[in-house]
Amino acid sequence: MMARVDRLTTVFVKDIPEQLENGVLYVSPECHVALHNCACGCGEEVSTPLVQTEYDFIMEDEGASIWPSIGNHDFPCGSHYIIKRGRIHWAGKMSRQQIEAGRAYDRLIKRGAQPKGLEAIVAWFKRLWAKFIG
Ligand SMILES: [Zn+2]
Repeated sequence: MMARVDRLTTVFVKDIPEQLENGVLYVSPECHVALHNCACGCGEEVSTPLVQTEYDFIMEDEGASIWPSIGNHDFPCGSHYIIKRGRIHWAGKMSRQQIEAGRAYDRLIKRGAQPKGLEAIVAWFKRLWAKFIG
């Protein structure tokens, strides 16, 4: 039985360990990356690039927050969650439409462009955030 975790303990590392422990968020400021085993317990490794165009990382006393959400839609589990203050907020599987919107958002942000429609996508992400985090 795979154990789902609802909490991630943040560990700052210089080098990413070969074997990741469940429930641990490994953060390498030097490599600008965070890694953790998928919170659903499926054993897939989730790599989160901590660069401005990808993810925001905030460390607080209660734990780490990563934004936007972790969408593992390329894994068989398809799990989707938000890491906020070290806690996993399950966001349910993303619909095809949401995945496409997310990818469109990524593309737009990476291009640094401000075309029409970007604001709508940003608004959608903010609504998602508000819905799951409150
Ligand atoms: Zn998973």
